[in-house]
Amino acid sequence: MYRIKLLTQGEIMAPIGVLQILGDMSTLITAPVYVWLIEGNDRKILVDAGIEEPVNGFVHGFPVSGGGEEGLKKALEGENLKPEDIDTLILTHLHFDHVATTSLFQNARIYVQKREWESALNPPIHFRATYDAGLFQCLEEMDLCLVDGDKRILDGIELILLPGHTKGLQGVAVQTEGGKYLLSGDHFYSFLNLNPPKEPIEIVDLQGNKIKIQGSPLPFLPPGLHVDLTEWFDSCFKALSVVTRKNILPGHEPSLVGKQFP
Ligand SMILES: [Zn+2]
Repeated sequence: MYRIKLLTQGEIMAPIGVLQILGDMSTLITAPVYVWLIEGNDRKILVDAGIEEPVNGFVHGFPVSGGGEEGLKKALEGENLKPEDIDTLILTHLHFDHVATTSLFQNARIYVQKREWESALNPPIHFRATYDAGLFQCLEEMDLCLVDGDKRILDGIELILLPGHTKGLQGVAVQTEGGKYLLSGDHFYSFLNLNPPKEPIEIVDLQGNKIKIQGSPLPFLPPGLHVDLTEWFDSCFKALSVVTRKNILPGHEPSLVGKQFP
C-alpha cells in the first residue's frame, strides 16, 4: 500500500483560457506546480519533475515563482529526501513545467510513454512552445523506460495512457489504504475540468484572487491546450473505468496544496 503526498515545487500564472477551452485570455490565474511523492513498499516514487527557475520572472512566457533545482530540493527536504533517494520517476508528459529537473534523478528508473517521447521531439505546430527538448533529452543517457500503453510497473502502481491533452499523456493509478487513486496529470488541470459547474461560479486561486468561471453544459470541460478533443473525452471515460470520480486528483488543482492521500 502507498501514500501520496503533493509537494509544491513552484507556482505558475496562466490565462483562464489555458485552464478551460474558450475561456477568458485576459485574466490570469495562479496555480501550483506539483511533484507527487508516492511512498510505500520500500519505494520512493516521484511523479513529474517540475518547472525551471524563472528568468526575470518568466518561464516560456508564463510568470513563475519558485521552481528549478532549488524548488525541487526544498520540496523534497521537507520529506527528508534528496533527488538521489528517488528510485522511480514517472513523467505524466513532457511539457516544460513537468520535466525541468529530470537530470537530478540519477538513481531512478524513469517512465515515459513512447508516443509522448516521439511527439515531444517533433511536436504538433501549435505545441512547439510547450516542449523544450533541452530539458528532457538528458533522459537518453539515463535509465529511461519508454512504455507503449497501459502498464503495471510495480505492485499497486499502474500507468494509464490518457491521450488528448498531449499525444502520450499518462495518468498514474496508485493503490492506497483509502482505495485506488488516479493522478491525472494535466488531463484534468483542476476540479473545474473534472466537475464543470453548470452555472457561472467564482473560484479562489493560489494567491487568494477571486476569479469568475463560466458555466458549462458538458460532463467534462476540456483544457485550452490539447492535441485531440475526441481522444480527450474518450480518456475522461477511460479514467472513470480505472477509479471513481472522487478519487481522481487533477494536475494543478490549487485546493490540494499540502494534501496527502489517504
Ligand atoms: Zn501539460
